[in-house]
Order: sequence, then structure tokens, then C-alpha cells
Amino acid sequence: MPSAVCVESSSCVRRQLSCPTGHPNCRRTIVLCRRLELFSQAIVGIDGSKFKAVNNRNRNFTATKVKRRLEESFNRYLGQLDTADHAEPALAKAKTEHLKEKIIKLREETARLQTVEEQRLQSPDQQVSLTDPDARAMATSGRGTGTVGYNVQTAVDSQHHLIVAHEVTNIGHDRGQLFNMAKQAREATGIKELKVVADRGYFKREEILACHKEGITTYLPKPMTSPNQAKGFYPRDAFRYLPESNEYSCPAGQRLLWRYETIEKGMKLHTYWSSACASCAMKEKCTTGKQRRIRRWEHEDVLESAQSRLDWNPEMMRLRRQTVEHPFGTLKAWMGATHFATKRFRNVSTEMSLHVLAYNLNRVIKILGVNALMRAARA
Ligand code: SF4
Repeated sequence: MPSAVCVESSSCVRRQLSCPTGHPNCRRTIVLCRRLELFSQAIVGIDGSKFKAVNNRNRNFTATKVKRRLEESFNRYLGQLDTADHAEPALAKAKTEHLKEKIIKLREETARLQTVEEQRLQSPDQQVSLTDPDARAMATSGRGTGTVGYNVQTAVDSQHHLIVAHEVTNIGHDRGQLFNMAKQAREATGIKELKVVADRGYFKREEILACHKEGITTYLPKPMTSPNQAKGFYPRDAFRYLPESNEYSCPAGQRLLWRYETIEKGMKLHTYWSSACASCAMKEKCTTGKQRRIRRWEHEDVLESAQSRLDWNPEMMRLRRQTVEHPFGTLKAWMGATHFATKRFRNVSTEMSLHVLAYNLNRVIKILGVNALMRAARA
């Protein structure tokens, strides 16, 4: 039987953010797959999906929700007073009695919300869940929808769609997960020169650099977040870096020269601009400032290589979709529309590990057959 206890120490500080411990049998299955050489393609897709927690949405409070609930209570109170004011004298007495009860309830509700607000303010991420304290409100892909739950990260091998690593987190986005998942996938598969493919939600320069330093090759598109492009100005990509002279060339064919370097949030950034902007006929489409400035991170070449890899291998994004959709689709179909059966990180992580174990065993049986799997397990 699976252990319901997380094998990490209770003093583990990461426990508050994520619990990477899979069930031991989950890891054994991956070791077995490794022995059977099922990970020969050396490519894994990384993806995250939101799974509902036991915690109902009404029992999760963010700053907006507390404010809205307090306003609703206050408006209900005013509405009751207004109704009593306009009631017929004969009805007024009965209404006043009823109103007194309502006001007591509203006061209790307000006091409860104030207690929740105090708890919320003490929480590091400024939100509180009353049923499962580790669950968090998260946006989902549907417009205007959200869930209170966990963000489950997986690394899936592209050949057989086996989940080689997984981790339950309560962070609502995937930024910051690339290196962690890639490293776990590499350890699990034992593939030194691993290629990982992920969607633009994982794009974070420090993460891509960390993978690069570890020899993990990344394929992921850049998010379209350029404010200049949104304003109709030339996008950053319209400026080409010239490594031999450490300059940029702009759409008007001018050179943007290196000017100075700064350190921002621990990152060294180089700034470039051209002296020709003031008299440039294309300035209207470029900047509203004195000159268009381009900033370059000291490790920008790593990001440029990642982009160029993807440009040369656009089929990698299709491969990513095919790879990661299979396991999440299967797991969600098995679980149905319901939420996790357990609460708190360690239990939810164990529950997820069991789902992953069942999924992987099912896959291996489909690939090898029951008899071959039993023989391999006994060997
Ligand atoms: S405004 Fe400056 S950077 Fe922009 S196109 Fe003209 S010269 Fe180049």
C-alpha cells in the first residue's frame, strides 16, 4: 500500500510551494522503463495543468474576493434599511424585528470576513483557503474562469508518452518551472543530452540559462509581450544584433551603438541607441522618445540560440502538443470532473503520484504487454 506520508522532512521549506516527491513505486516504474530502454528519443515535453482541490471557490479568499464580499454585506444591510423605511406602518414593526435579525447576521458575517482578512494579510501570497490551506486560486485557460486547486507539472517522454517526472505545485503559473522539471526529467531518464520542449508560459530567461548551463537543450517560443509592438512600433525582433561589432542594426539601416551597462534585479543589461533617431524618417513607427533604446541581457545569446533552434525546428511545438496532451487528457478523464480526494500538499502529492503510477503502468502494459512487464519487473 502506498505511504500517505511525504518522504520529505516536515521541515522542508519547499513544501510550502511544491512537493516534488513522487511515490517510490512511481520512481521504480521509471527506473524499470529506463532499464527497458523506453526513453531512446531523448525528448521530453513539459507542461502543467490545473487540478481542482477539495476547497470550494467560496472558501478561498483573495484581496478582491474579501473586498467584494464586504461590499455585498454592506449593500445588503443598506437594502434592508431602505425596505424597512418604505414599508407600510402596519408592516414596519414586523419588518423591524426581521431587520434586527438580519443585521445581527450581517455583523457576524462582517466579523468573519475581517478574521479571514487578517489571516489573508499574514499569508505570504496574500490569499487564504479555508478547507485546504495549501490550495490556491488559479486562472485557467478558459476566459474569465478560474479554479482553486493545484498546478501539476509533468515531464513526458515524446516516444511512449510516459510521465518521467511530475510535481504538484500551488503556483498558478508555469514560469519558473522549466529548469526544475527538466532536471528531474534528466535524472529520471538518465539521458545526459536531453531536449525539452515547452510552451511560451515557461519562458523565463534565467530558467533557459540554467538549462543551457546544465547541457539541457530547450525549445520554447517567446511570449508576445512587447509593449512597443502593442503600440504599433517596430518590435524588438526588427533590430538585429551584430556580435562582431557589439551593435544593433535598426529597420532604417542605422547602427545602435553600445552606450552603458546597468544591473537590474541582479541581471547585467547593456543599452544601445543610435544618434540618427532625431532625423530619422521612420521615427514615428519606432519611438516617442528622443531615440529608440535597445537593452540586451548579458546572456541574450542563449535566448537567441533557443529562438533560432525553434525557427529551424517548428515541428517541435507540434511534438510538444502530441506529447503532453495524452497524459493530462487521460488523467483528467480518469478523475472525471471531480477534485482531488485529499487535502494538503503531502496528501495531494501522494494522490497524484498514484494516478501517475497507474497511468505509467497502463502505458507500459500497452507497449510491452503484461507478461513482458512482469518478466522485466522480476529480473
Ligand atoms: S528611429 Fe532610430 S532606431 Fe528607429 S528606425 Fe529610425 S534610426 Fe533606427
